[in-house]
Amino acid sequence: MRIVRFRENTQDWPSWGWVSEDRVGVIDGSPFSDFRREAADRHLSAVHLLPPIVPGKIICVARNYVAHAAEQDVEVPVLPLLFTKPPSSVIGPGDPILLPPQSNLVEHEAELAVVIGQRARWVSPEEAPGYILGYTAANDVTARDLQRSDGQWTRGKGFDTFCPLGPWIDTHLDPSDVLVTCHVNGHLRQMASTRDMVFPVAQLIAFVSSIMTLEPGDVLLTGTPSGIGQLAAGDEVRVEVEGLGALTNPVRNDPHRGPFTS
Ligand code: MG
Repeated sequence: MRIVRFRENTQDWPSWGWVSEDRVGVIDGSPFSDFRREAADRHLSAVHLLPPIVPGKIICVARNYVAHAAEQDVEVPVLPLLFTKPPSSVIGPGDPILLPPQSNLVEHEAELAVVIGQRARWVSPEEAPGYILGYTAANDVTARDLQRSDGQWTRGKGFDTFCPLGPWIDTHLDPSDVLVTCHVNGHLRQMASTRDMVFPVAQLIAFVSSIMTLEPGDVLLTGTPSGIGQLAAGDEVRVEVEGLGALTNPVRNDPHRGPFTS
């Protein structure tokens, strides 16, 4: 099943929905508990898709593809290297990524994202799939200059709009060998299979759940392949997960100027 959040009019409350080809039906209830599917009687193009999940927390994995670690001139870690992005960084399909005035180098990072379905703590890799609701596409947008100059990553990874998610949560995807690609203005920038991950999804869930409780709706970003590159105002960036779908966002300048900008 493909799960979306959507609304038909800007003043509406968001609804859960399910997608069948080019149509959307309401999900009555919650995909995390009991729910009932209503008829898919709306055209996908007639509704406004929202981020498919509002996560309580976003846990991200760095350097999880060997080729990306090499292009950054860093070692592949012995254990997964984690950081977080704030929930306020999430935007949905079609929402603009805003280039902050504090940065001169904002880059795209196409990633497979995991949406947790059940509370998980001390879960084994074998048990991990049972705690997953599904998968979506993510863009771990990064202010690379600030990430490097700060030494830690909260600022460079944490701006509003720096975590596009969508277009939906696919509950049936097999994440073991799917292509993750990124196109900017139609030009291919990143492409690799998830089978090239250093730590696969089940191991990542096990590792994170040995540190912190994962709650339903939490999101895990599983790392980016090589080919990261700069985004400029006017660009259109598309992250695609094979068999799942494409997440497209325009890129704009944030018009704000404040005390921490040059
Ligand atoms: Mg990343």
